[in-house]
Order: sequence, then structure tokens, then C-alpha cells
Amino acid sequence: MKICPLCHTKFEDSAEYCPKCKAQLEDFEEAEKEEQKAVPKSFWIALLGTFAFIGGMILLYKLVYGAFM
Ligand SMILES: [Zn+2]
Repeated sequence: MKICPLCHTKFEDSAEYCPKCKAQLEDFEEAEKEEQKAVPKSFWIALLGTFAFIGGMILLYKLVYGAFM
């Protein structure tokens, strides 16, 4: 499967150029893989870790300052 980078129309593997845009077609499977690379699993783990850290800091802040007030 191939895809046109301009109009995003899908074509057969044998096709080389888009008849509408005259643009060279890109491999559709490879384009999908690149999209998956854009957001790796480690990004979500890091995001979750950041939220857990902020939550922990808020909890610690409340514990420390709650004890003195
Ligand atoms: Zn096109």
C-alpha cells in the first residue's frame, strides 16, 4: 500500500505517482511506523512518573505544613 503525501489518497504498491498531484507516493506502512515513533511508550511512562512526583510533592507539602499549622 502506498499513500500520496499531498492528498493522502491510498494507491496500489505498483503505483509510483499520484495522478491528481503528480507527487511521488510514499510507503503507507512506513508512514504509520513513523507516527508510532513520534509518541513512544517511554513518553507516557515519563508523563505518569511526572504526575506521580507532583502528587507526592503536594502530599508531602500538606503533611509538613499541616503538622505546623
Ligand atoms: Zn495526491
